[in-house]
Amino acid sequence: MALNKQTQAIRIQADKTGEKEHSTPVFLTSSFTFETAEDMRAAFADENDDNIYSRYSNPTVDEFVKKMCMLEGAEAGFATASGMAAVFNSIFALLKAGDHLICCSSVFGSTYALATKFLPRYGIECTLVSANAHDEWEAAVKPNTKMIYLETPTNPQLEILDLEWAGDFCKRHQLIFNVDNCFASPILQNPIEFGADIVSHSATKWIDGQGRVLGGVVVGRADLIHDIYMFCRNTGPSMSPFNAWVLTKSLETLDVRMERHCKNALAIASYFENHEKISWLKYPFLPSHPEYAIAKKQMRAGGGILCFELKGGIESGRKFLDALQLLSMTPNLGDTRSIASHPASTTHSKLSESERLSVGITPGLIRISAGLEHVQDVINDIEQALTSC
Ligand SMILES: *Cc1c(COP(=O)(O)O)cnc(C)c1O
Repeated sequence: MALNKQTQAIRIQADKTGEKEHSTPVFLTSSFTFETAEDMRAAFADENDDNIYSRYSNPTVDEFVKKMCMLEGAEAGFATASGMAAVFNSIFALLKAGDHLICCSSVFGSTYALATKFLPRYGIECTLVSANAHDEWEAAVKPNTKMIYLETPTNPQLEILDLEWAGDFCKRHQLIFNVDNCFASPILQNPIEFGADIVSHSATKWIDGQGRVLGGVVVGRADLIHDIYMFCRNTGPSMSPFNAWVLTKSLETLDVRMERHCKNALAIASYFENHEKISWLKYPFLPSHPEYAIAKKQMRAGGGILCFELKGGIESGRKFLDALQLLSMTPNLGDTRSIASHPASTTHSKLSESERLSVGITPGLIRISAGLEHVQDVINDIEQALTSC
C-alpha cells in the first residue's frame, strides 16, 4: 500500500524486538553479536548490512535516518551528534586540499567560522558571496571550485535564497550543491527537488522541537553520502541511539507541530507588522518580505521564525528582553516555548557595530521563534514588552 509521507513518518519502525511493542524501541547497545566467525567476517567485508558497532550503525539511529531520507526525498543519510557535526562532515568529507568552496556569507555563526577560519588551515579555499547577488556567485567560480554551500531562510535576517537558481548554477558549473535546511525543516522545503545534492539539518531545532537533545543529520545522493559515511565511521561523530530514539518519536509529530508554529508566527507577524515601536518586520509569507515570491515558490509555509527592528536601537532591545514575562530568553529556536533573542547585545556583542552591520545584525534586531502556546498569550507578552522600550 502506497503511504503518504505523514503516515510514513509515524509508521516506519526499526526491527521489532520480538516483544510486540507498539511504540518504537530504543537499542541502547554499543555493539552487536554474531553466531559464527563466517557471519562476522561477512559483516566486516560489507557483504551484508548487519549491524556491527554503533559508531557505524544502530537500528534506532537507522530508523531516524530512514524517516529523514523519506521526508527529504533523499537516497541515503547519516546521523550525527549535533547539527554542526552534520555541516562539518558534509564539507570536510567531500573536499580536499586545493579545492575551492563558494559559501553564502549569511550562514550560521559556527558555519561561518568553519568556512573562514578552519577550512583554510587544511588548504581548502573559500569565497564568501552575498545571498542574492547572483553576479557575485558567477564571478566566484574558479577551475578548482567543487561545492556551494547555503542556508535558506537565513538566520537571523530571514533572507530567502532562490533554490531553483542555485540548482541551475550548480548544474552549469558541475558543482556539489550543499544546503543547510534547518530553518525550514523537511516539512516546509525540500532542496533536493531543486537540484541539491546534500542537505543537512540541526535536529536540535524543529525536529526535536522540545529543546531536549542535540542532533544532526545529512542526507542526499548515495555516492556522496557513502563518502561522508566512511569519513564519519572513522572520525566518530555518530548520533547516540538514545537521542535517535527521542528524535524518531519527534518526527511522528513534526508535521502537526510545524503547522501550528507557522500559523502562530504568521499571526504574530501580521499583528505587529505596523506597530509604532517597530521600523520594519520580516516574515517570509508576508507580501512585504523582499523575497516573498521566491519564498512562495519553494516553501509550503513561512516557517516559525520572524524578526523585527526596534526603532529605539540597542537599548530598546535590552529593555524589550527584560520586560518579557512569558517568552524565554535563550539562545535556541524551534521549541514548543516561544523564544526572543537580541543578537546585538548577546550572540554578536563581541563584534564592532560596523562588523555587526556587515552580517545583517542591526542594533534593534529582535528574533522571535514562535512556539506552540496559545498565540494570544504570546502576542500579549510582546505587546506589553514593547510599551517599555
Ligand atoms: C543551530 C543551527 C546549526 C547548528 O546545530 P547544532 O545542533 O547546534 O550543532 C546549524 N545550522 C543552523 C541554521 C542552525 O540554526
